[in-house]
Amino acid sequence: MLVVMATGSGGDDLYSVLEVAADASVSDVRRSYQRLVKECHPDKLSAHLTDEERDTAMDKFHTLSKAYQVLSDQESKALYDANSQSAQITQKWPLSDTVDLDTMTFDPASKVYSLSCRCGGCYLISESDMEDGVEVSCCTSCTLCVRVLYQLARDER
Ligand SMILES: [Zn+2]
Repeated sequence: MLVVMATGSGGDDLYSVLEVAADASVSDVRRSYQRLVKECHPDKLSAHLTDEERDTAMDKFHTLSKAYQVLSDQESKALYDANSQSAQITQKWPLSDTVDLDTMTFDPASKVYSLSCRCGGCYLISESDMEDGVEVSCCTSCTLCVRVLYQLARDER
């Protein structure tokens, strides 16, 4: 099933505020913020601006600062990512939990990680799912979904 979500106004997306890609790192965020903030920092505004231009700059400065505050911190960034991702992917199925891949059982034959759900079903996520960037696994028998935390340990090529 393919669900195409309307992306809304996009005005709330902190990544687009900072003009970086959604998978930007903290250092990308910092670099972009420093570049953007130069144009609207209250200390850097030209004295010749009209009140209106000044207000616009101040608005932009506050929006940027707010976005930067969230995305410049690894932990709050991860939280923001998790929230926006679960909002996008699982509108219908609320994430019930976050699980660490280490706590899941790996079946080397099928290359699938599994975890029992409290309903008696289980959550499954395969290595190829993870290579495709899948992070949410839904129970095979109830409507619960979990977000799986993992880091791809890729072979050096
Ligand atoms: Zn279940």
